[in-house]
Amino acid sequence: MFPFAGELRLNELSAPLEAETARQGEGGRPCPRCEDPMRGAIWSSERFIVSRGPRSALPVTDFVESRAHHDIGGLDDDDASELDRHIVAVEAAVRSVPGVGRVHVHHWADGSAHFHLWFMARPARQLETFGWGAELWSQVLPPGDEAISDQNLETVAAALRSRPGLSNP
Ligand SMILES: [Zn+2]
Repeated sequence: MFPFAGELRLNELSAPLEAETARQGEGGRPCPRCEDPMRGAIWSSERFIVSRGPRSALPVTDFVESRAHHDIGGLDDDDASELDRHIVAVEAAVRSVPGVGRVHVHHWADGSAHFHLWFMARPARQLETFGWGAELWSQVLPPGDEAISDQNLETVAAALRSRPGLSNP
């Protein structure tokens, strides 16, 4: 799964920072989501937005994101039960895109004050992109074709719109 061959040198870790860094929307940093709440959205509810992620070599990258600033521990029971349905619905929608093998779901909380999950589709049968390989390869391969990326995103959006039990925008 490792994208590189040959001799590599391990970087040294730097000293820990004195404090955690401010994320987007914290400590006076601008928040692109609050400035443009429907930026990149393909589906939304009162609590959550599904939006396109950065275009990469992967067939699809989407986010499920809270409309409000929350860490995962700040989601209340109603948020949590709705989030459960979104996780299942978005995973199925992304997996329905032709050429997708499986969908990796990640939670990294270092970039934005909005709770968000990454849904990263890995190409079907491409062994190097199994597991954590998908994230590494997506960072070093050139992005896929823009028109195909848009088409894949529309497939995801259509699957979400047609899914019973999800409220629509
Ligand atoms: Zn915000």
